[in-house]
Amino acid sequence: NEEVNIISGALELKTKHAGQIMTIIDDVFMLPYDTVLDFETVSNIIRQGYTRIPVYDGNRDTIVALLNIKDLAFVDPADAFPLKTVCDFYKHPLTYCFEDQCLDELLDEFKKGKSHMSIVQSIRTADDADPIYTVVGIVTLEDVIEEILKIEIVDE
Ligand code: ADP
Repeated sequence: NEEVNIISGALELKTKHAGQIMTIIDDVFMLPYDTVLDFETVSNIIRQGYTRIPVYDGNRDTIVALLNIKDLAFVDPADAFPLKTVCDFYKHPLTYCFEDQCLDELLDEFKKGKSHMSIVQSIRTADDADPIYTVVGIVTLEDVIEEILKIEIVDE
């Protein structure tokens, strides 16, 4: 029943990690930093329906900013504003976690309220070389809550 699910979900916060619940990078809707916010682009962003959209520079694993859908409220598509200008104005903080980081730690970070999306990184260390960080996905507060409640939250 539901209570048992919630309790077992809460216990799993210590055993499950970000990599198990993240949305993998290939499935993340992102925008290039040099995007021009014309009518077509803004319509496409709204059609996707995401609140937070990572912005990358050149390569999809070089995330440089985060766009919140609300940032577009004062953007007139007729002005064809550069996305860069909007990102530089709002400067939403980027937060990172590692793919092996436990969900209870993620939840603690999300509770601080800096950002409800975290960029998931993996670290690989080739012998005696510097560690290599790669972006492997994103995880949001909703992903963690779904794990606790063991339910699928269907978006509005
Ligand atoms: P939203 O508010 O945009 O619906 P949520 O934080 O509620 O986002 O997360 C809902 C699901 O969508 C989660 O599984 C999350 O990993 C995923 N998600 C959030 N943002 C994006 C995005 N930009 N691209 C792809 N998936 C995303």
